[in-house]
Amino acid sequence: MKGNMSQMGLTTSMLISHAEINHGQTEIVSVDVKGSRERTNWKEVGERSRKMASALEGLGLKRGDRIGTIIPNNRSHLELLYAISGFGGVAHTINPRLFPDEIVYIINHAKDKAIFVDPSYIGFLIGHKHLLETTEHLFISGPKENEIAARMNGFKFLGDLIEEGDNSYQWPQLDEDDAAVLCYTSGTTGNPKGVLYSHKSIVIHANIVSLPDSFCISARDTIMPIVPMFHVNAWGMTYASAMVGSRLILPGPNLDGRTIIDLILQENVSLALAIPTIWEEVLERLNTNPISLPELKRIVSGGSAVPSWVIREFKEKYDVNVLQAWGMTEMSPLGTANSPLMKHNHLDNDLSITQMENAGRPTWAVQIKIIDDSGKELPRGDLEGRILVRGPTVIQRYIFEESDTVDETGWFETGDLGVLDSDGYLTITDRSKDLIKSGGEWISSIELEEIIKLHPDIYDAAVIGVKHEKWAERPIVIAEIVKGSNISESELLDFYDEKVVKWQKPDAVVFVDELPLGSTGKPIKKDLRERFGDYLIGGVGDG
Ligand code: ADP
Repeated sequence: MKGNMSQMGLTTSMLISHAEINHGQTEIVSVDVKGSRERTNWKEVGERSRKMASALEGLGLKRGDRIGTIIPNNRSHLELLYAISGFGGVAHTINPRLFPDEIVYIINHAKDKAIFVDPSYIGFLIGHKHLLETTEHLFISGPKENEIAARMNGFKFLGDLIEEGDNSYQWPQLDEDDAAVLCYTSGTTGNPKGVLYSHKSIVIHANIVSLPDSFCISARDTIMPIVPMFHVNAWGMTYASAMVGSRLILPGPNLDGRTIIDLILQENVSLALAIPTIWEEVLERLNTNPISLPELKRIVSGGSAVPSWVIREFKEKYDVNVLQAWGMTEMSPLGTANSPLMKHNHLDNDLSITQMENAGRPTWAVQIKIIDDSGKELPRGDLEGRILVRGPTVIQRYIFEESDTVDETGWFETGDLGVLDSDGYLTITDRSKDLIKSGGEWISSIELEEIIKLHPDIYDAAVIGVKHEKWAERPIVIAEIVKGSNISESELLDFYDEKVVKWQKPDAVVFVDELPLGSTGKPIKKDLRERFGDYLIGGVGDG
């Protein structure tokens, strides 16, 4: 028997409508490339996104069409995300830090019909425009500068497009299982893969991140997502902020420590979200110029493990709680968030800091299990294994792939290794996938290996991620060179020039006589990480 309640689905337009109607006067501050702050509110953002949606339909764009955005966190990006998924399109948020060939690949793979680009990223698009196979419209999302040159290169302006929109446009009813947003993530092998969020998964995710034991956000918060919208909707903040009607600070493209601190102070930010690398930079700056951050109550740090000194210094010096979160693109992204249980109420300072160091507890929408290498589920306790997740915010299949990426019972293998304790707190211990995370961005170790193995002086090589003070992890090459060769480290590193973007180039080459090989003939990376894991922070340097 089915329930008799409304058939209205969970859609992103519900969120923006709610914010427009019930939190209309709540401010949204958008920072541009020069640091100027534009002030708007949920009412204006709601109105403009409806108008934009009608203009997008007017262009001939249809439900299900993918529309790319290459824009930092600002007002236009927010409005576009709501406009695109609100009329039934799919907002494809694109990471401008990828290698141009990779960007071209994902635009073509997604079959983007239109692309909206911030003026700061236009140079790349002009150079690669001829390679775009399906893109019919190119729009500049920023102010109308260099109009003649822009038009000569085939670009139109978002500002003009909006003028063609209908002020009275109303959101259509959509199926909650329809696609709303598309985000590509690095594959361990081969090309990036697209994760296609549905309206329902986005709304459920907005709910779980808002809960008190997740990021605890409300209409009394001023939220600053430093994490970009192309990283899984700024970890869901584009939608959660509308759901709860919070004040929003969109910091634009300049994300250095000083700018962030100025915005936190001057805009009374109560919650900000970023990767550990950014928080370390903020702390370093604060420590050279100590000030108090009276409104900032907590910060969310995710994407990589947070060093314990960051948690301690924020708490002890600035009275700010660091809320560690774990997740991934395939999980919308939140899986766990670190918040205390009742039994932690009276922990002393040191113990409560220790308690904040793990990745936290699962939210209601994400089931987690740990399995051993034979696939057997491990009991909660202190046994390390592979982390699997399942739930309504977890992927089933990558875009355009024929088979599911989950097992027959819906469990998705995250590629992370960890331990789940008896209270459900997860500690991430290692990564089984061949990826390195440097300053929040992925680098494929396999790709770096394939390149270096083409060098005639390399007999065999492995690329591993090792600890780095600033970037959390950096790639290094462990190289076995052909007998008699006297190739140098710098010559091998130069071999990567022009083949990968600069930030993906390995930091060092360590020469070994023989790589440790497993039963399948591949280097045993766990052993190499154990041996060389501290190589860049002044640790082991033998070989
Ligand atoms: P995002 O960086 O937006 O969280 P990605 O899909 O790019 O999403 O990265 C997810 C991966 O990042 C995880 O599988 C894990 O390897 C790593 N990661 C995320 N959060 C943490 C954390 N708190 N501790 C350790 N590793 C983490």
